[in-house]
Amino acid sequence: MQRILIVEDEQDIADLIAFNLKRSGFEVGKAHDGIDGLDKALRERPDLIVLDLMLPGRDGYSVFRELRRDSRTVGIPVIMLTARAQTEDRIQGLEAGADDYLTKPFSPKELILRVQAVLKRSEAPPGNVDFNFGPFRFDKNALKFYLDNEPSELTATEFKLLLFLCERAGRPQDRNDLLRTVWGYSDASHSRTLDTHMKRLRQKLGDRGTWIETVRGVGYRVAKPEE
Ligand code: CA
Repeated sequence: MQRILIVEDEQDIADLIAFNLKRSGFEVGKAHDGIDGLDKALRERPDLIVLDLMLPGRDGYSVFRELRRDSRTVGIPVIMLTARAQTEDRIQGLEAGADDYLTKPFSPKELILRVQAVLKRSEAPPGNVDFNFGPFRFDKNALKFYLDNEPSELTATEFKLLLFLCERAGRPQDRNDLLRTVWGYSDASHSRTLDTHMKRLRQKLGDRGTWIETVRGVGYRVAKPEE
């Protein structure tokens, strides 16, 4: 059974989310402030975290940054809850590298769909266990990525995006195909998320970041290695 940790100080919302997740077959843990949330995440290592941004004790961004810094929690997908439809909140959440976000108020059904989609893309893809591409090595079972034989901390989303592009090297990949394949669904609001993840992915690849090319009007492409 997959376990979800809800970090949300508003009792009504936490209970509503917990009720619906349990009904959908998930095991649920709750934390009501940022400090407890971080503590439970580190101790319990849930399969996914639903993280509210406005929290007492320690705000959601701070909790999120800590989760991504710690090797025990770096790979746990996070769905952020933002209080308002304010652009600033969204952009910050995406820049921080959240796997997805929802703006309050949201329907429990929408949350469940997002949780399922995020978990699905955190699963190991089928097919050969290893895929090599120049200095890149993808361990598909463990969702681990190696650059020049050094382990590199990619999130599950970044891993899937890069693998998808490298397996189709030389051919431009359509934005909608990338969104559908990696996120499980495609909608306009995620177009920006895609660009943010690509930006972070390029940063993490260092010199090799330029291998990911933007194809105007289409999407992204990784060129075939020259050797
Ligand atoms: Ca809150």
